[in-house]
Amino acid sequence: MPELPEVETIRQTLEPVLHGHRLLSSHIYECRLRWTLPDHLFESLHGALLLKITRRGKYLLWHFDVGRVMLVHLGMSGRLGMATPREPLAPHTHVTWEFSDSPLIYYRDPRRFGMIDVVNKERLNEHPRLQLLGVEPLSLQFTPKTLCQVSGHRNIKTVLMDHKVVAGLGNIYVNEALFMAGIHPQRQQCHLTKAECTLLVESIKSVLTRAIEQGGTTLRDYRDARGEPGFFSLSLQVYGRENEPCLKCQTPIRRSVQSGRSTYFCPQCQNLH
Ligand SMILES: [Zn+2]
Repeated sequence: MPELPEVETIRQTLEPVLHGHRLLSSHIYECRLRWTLPDHLFESLHGALLLKITRRGKYLLWHFDVGRVMLVHLGMSGRLGMATPREPLAPHTHVTWEFSDSPLIYYRDPRRFGMIDVVNKERLNEHPRLQLLGVEPLSLQFTPKTLCQVSGHRNIKTVLMDHKVVAGLGNIYVNEALFMAGIHPQRQQCHLTKAECTLLVESIKSVLTRAIEQGGTTLRDYRDARGEPGFFSLSLQVYGRENEPCLKCQTPIRRSVQSGRSTYFCPQCQNLH
């Protein structure tokens, strides 16, 4: 599943190619994504200039000069990429966009859990998919206070996976950040010390920044918009390393399942008590 670093990598590869270019036409080949795409979804954007592409959590926001913004979420298996106009479309290509003097942009998604929408710029923050999102983990607003202020009795991994607290953190990066900070994934969030929250916030920012620098993590089929894999998988410290020795203390890494997602941790470095 593409997470924040992968989405950011796609943004960074598409933006320089497309900004300042005009959307000439679009084509919907399959409208049944997570929500059905209306027939004329992109019509208000035809002829409009793309000003910039920004990101909020795992949503890509395409800002056009007509005061409209296109939202794209890649779901489980979505991919945005570039093709030459003469190239035959690969299977599962559901939408294409043709920009002036640019490669053809496609949206491909075998599992069709992705979403695409177009909204007025003024109403962007009220969009049901965006309005509940928590702080951006790489922004200055994400501080140890963000974690200290969360109420309730939940374990720290569940809190970090909650997009209403922090936007767009994924399972891989939460596992890695908890390991880096030496915090057991099942620790109660309300029992973390201020120093631990500080270390955890620093670890999250560091893991995400390095993952973006390395083009994201390719585990199965993730590719950036140029078709390149990400190389952060080579830097993973705990994720996917069950029974392999911890890189800090040699203790075998353990795997458990929390809320249906794999959790990897070192029982020695990430003590529960
Ligand atoms: Zn260890």
